[in-house]
This record gives sequence, C-alpha cells and structure tokens, in this order.
Amino acid sequence: MSSSDTKIITVIGSGLIGRSWAMVFASGGYSVKIYDNQPGQSTKAIVEIKKQLQELEDAQMLRGEATALQQVALISSYDDLSQALEGAFFVQECVFEQLEVKQSIFQDIERLVGKDVILSSSTSCLVPSNVFSKVQNRSRCLVSHPVNPPYYVKLVELVPHPETAPAVMDTTHTLMTKVGQAPVRLRKEIDGFALNRVQAAIIAESWRLVQIFQSSPLRKPVPLDLSRWHPISTFCAEEESTNTEPDGKNWLTEKVDDYCCDIY
Ligand code: NAD
Repeated sequence: MSSSDTKIITVIGSGLIGRSWAMVFASGGYSVKIYDNQPGQSTKAIVEIKKQLQELEDAQMLRGEATALQQVALISSYDDLSQALEGAFFVQECVFEQLEVKQSIFQDIERLVGKDVILSSSTSCLVPSNVFSKVQNRSRCLVSHPVNPPYYVKLVELVPHPETAPAVMDTTHTLMTKVGQAPVRLRKEIDGFALNRVQAAIIAESWRLVQIFQSSPLRKPVPLDLSRWHPISTFCAEEESTNTEPDGKNWLTEKVDDYCCDIY
C-alpha cells in the first residue's frame, strides 16, 4: 500500500488554524494526527474540536457525511513528533508565524518521513523559498495558505516553492477539493501571495473611507467589520480611529501600516 492510500494527515501545531484544518480533513474522512510541542496541548485541542463539531451538528452546519462523534474519532493527539508522522501522506504545518520556527520544524519533519510525503505550510505570508530553505527535498513542499478559519472560509491559496513538483500541486489541489475547500493555484511564489495583496487593497480603501466619513460634518464614522477573523480584525471606526496619538497617528493607522509591512 502506498502512503497516499493510508489516508492519514498530520497537522503540526494545534492552535486556531491547526484545529480548524483537523476538522476540515476529518470531515473529508481522513484520519488526522495532531502534534503540538506543548505537552497536552493537542489533547486539549481535541476536546475543543469535539465541542465545536457537536455545536455544528446541532446547528446543522457540520461538514461531511459522518456524524460529529464519527469525525472526532478520526482525530488523535500526539506529544511525540515521530509517532504523529507515522503513516502520513500529507503534513499540514500550523505553528507560529516565525521563520526560524517553521524552518526548524520542517527540518525535523523531513528527517522522520519518506520522500513522497507532501510538506505543506499554513504560513500567512512567509514565502516558500524561505520556509523550506532548510529542507533537502523541496520538490514536495508548498504553502497551502488558508483563510481563518478554513472550516468556514473555503478559499485556500496553493503557493509553490520554485522547486515544487507539478504532481505535488496536483495532489494537494485534489485533496483540498475532496475535503470541500476551494483551492486556488499560484503559478509562482510572490510576496504577500495573492490573497493578502487583495485584502490589503480592500483594507486600505476601507480605511480611506473611514477617514472621509470622519472628516465630513454630515456623516458619522461607521463600524466596518471587514474581516472578522483577520489579525487586523474589526474596524471600530467610531471608537478606535478617533483615538489619535500626539504624533497625529492613531491605533488604526498603525495597524494598517504594520499589516502592509508584514506582507510585503
Ligand atoms: P496559534 O498561535 O493559534 O497556534 C500555534 C500552535 O503551534 C500553538 O498551539 C503552539 O503550541 C504550536 N507550536 C509552536 N511551535 C511549535 C513547534 N515547533 N512544533 C509544534 N507545535 C508548535 O497560531 P495560528 O493562528 O493557528 O497560526 C498558525 C499558522 O497559520 C501561522 O503560520 C499563521 O500565520 C497561519 N495563519 C493564521 C491565520 C490566522 O488568521 N490566525 C490565517 C491564515 C494562516
């Protein structure tokens, strides 16, 4: 049996994104092994996932054919990386957004898996050539950049490393489609990927609107909830954008500046 027949996916990191990916893959019938380097963290993640899946089932919003309990039964937790990776054909990394942390975990993972195992990163904006620079066999590496949380927002950007094999992009595209996501392929890596660039333009324009509304004597600023799950999150224009610092900057301007610096 080839490793891709085993239907095991390993999720590395059991935070917000890792838990949501685990739910997505389990909804597609895959066995999911979650690993976190904080002892007990992945076990806690399963408790949280079980609660979420039961709530989704009650609200008739559960994805997939199986019941919530059947899906939870597909997910297991590990504090040991080698055990977590055993039998997996696909690895979805979801650790902190820090280049060194990602480079290090992919080095560890590569030592423990076969050459045909696909290594996929959830990074928000680190380009694949940096994330995978310490991996020896980079033809099986790519970024699968989700929108937070992937269980609810299906768009996922597939961003190749310059050495990524076309078959790896194809397999990942097929997998993502099979579990109900809406994958979009980028032909090559680019700073900010596509999604962040489009999102940055929307945020910048929305911020300009906030400023226009603020300067109008006839209009009150409106609260804009542009991207509920994004780090820049809810634009409470009425309360926050008027909180101007002595240097003329304010909370929202700084948030927008930080975000644009992060992605480019
Ligand atoms: P998080 O902080 O909620 O979770 C990170 C988890 O990784 C923690 O449980 C932590 O213990 C674990 N971890 C850290 N180092 C580890 C290691 N070496 N080995 C194993 N586990 C480790 O972070 P998150 O919001 O889930 O983000 C995860 C990734 O997804 C990041 O790269 C982030 O940029 C990306 N992402 C986040 C969002 C978002 O809006 N939150 C959206 C898209 C992509």
